[in-house]
Amino acid sequence: MSDRIDSSKATRRLATRAVHAGEPEPRIEGALSIPIFQSSTFETAGETDYHAVRYLRCNNTPNHHSLHAKLASLEAGEAAVVASSGMAAITTTLLTLLSHGDHLLALEGLYGGTHTFVTRDLAEYGIGHDLMDGNRPETWSALLKPSTQAIYVETITNPLMQVPDLEQVVRFARKHGLVSIVDSTFATPVNYRPLESGFDLVVHSGTKYLNGHSDLAAGAVIGSGELVRRVTHKLNHLGGVLDPHACFLLQRGIKTLVLRVGRQNENTLALARFLAAHPAVDAVNYPGLESHAQHGRARKLFSGFGGMLSFEVRGGIEAADRLLGRLRIPKSAPSLGGVETLITRPVTTSHAGVPAKERIRMGISDSLVRVSVGIEDPGDLVEDFEQGLKGIS
Ligand code: PLP
Repeated sequence: MSDRIDSSKATRRLATRAVHAGEPEPRIEGALSIPIFQSSTFETAGETDYHAVRYLRCNNTPNHHSLHAKLASLEAGEAAVVASSGMAAITTTLLTLLSHGDHLLALEGLYGGTHTFVTRDLAEYGIGHDLMDGNRPETWSALLKPSTQAIYVETITNPLMQVPDLEQVVRFARKHGLVSIVDSTFATPVNYRPLESGFDLVVHSGTKYLNGHSDLAAGAVIGSGELVRRVTHKLNHLGGVLDPHACFLLQRGIKTLVLRVGRQNENTLALARFLAAHPAVDAVNYPGLESHAQHGRARKLFSGFGGMLSFEVRGGIEAADRLLGRLRIPKSAPSLGGVETLITRPVTTSHAGVPAKERIRMGISDSLVRVSVGIEDPGDLVEDFEQGLKGIS
């Protein structure tokens, strides 16, 4: 079994690829689901190259090969590699492409873990960075240095759901010889496939939508054979391997990705529209709403607007907390992308580590509420928010 995609399957539509791409052909012992190869090492069979020797940390068990092929097919990449978490995928990718003396251009307002790694940890390795405004491409050239190697963005930012100018990022990277990397966790391959738009590498927290069931941690890097080979080499050294059992679960989760995300797109748009029309709600951040500053761009680039929204309720923190206490369906928890609706105030979870001054500069208020919308019945969700918002302010 190899990590390369079966090109006959790449021509099929996404929902078919999500189910069938990468699955062993013929099936192993006829088993429809790939068995879990819970073995750290494999008998040698005359391999002469170290990388051909099968060993769990080297991400080359049958479970890895099958999952890599499925992921590559979904994102229309040549190759993919999985990692033990989204952060393992992101940090390993950056450490593959950057070394001492290099410089990175990164989007302002990245996911907190990535933001901290870029702004604090990379400096310890002698790697510089500048943060760019994703909506002002005319300002990016001034941030370039002769040592700039790569540009790093996200498809939709958290928690304000901004959509950076992704087309300009690709053009800019090509013009200046930079490797373009995008974290597409929020968009998922259902709504946007960055490699088809010219990005060099796409990274995911597989913990979120790809798996979709809030029961594992995983990451993925997808792109050209050469770039993924380099990332894999670094990952083998840094050691962020995904266990075969988690590979199996992630592979199983991906089979229903298109159904889940389709439903999440619909549910979130319905909830966003309801909230935007509610007198107790001040502002709703969702790229699917006509009122969103980058709605036109999102419509042009994406085939759906995703399952994440955030909003402000009238009455500040106290009202927001009252709402969280009154809601019955959403669970109050960090993370996102699962089948169940989750709700949180980002300042108490995902952005708790970001200093208040920085948060305010980023436009993230203490009372902002973020929702990861699940696959429940949209009528039930709207009804629950309706009763939750009654009399909170
Ligand atoms: N990227 C985004 C956009 C995220 O939201 C997260 C986690 O919330 C990560 C990456 C990190 O993923 P993980 O928790 O799997 O390491």
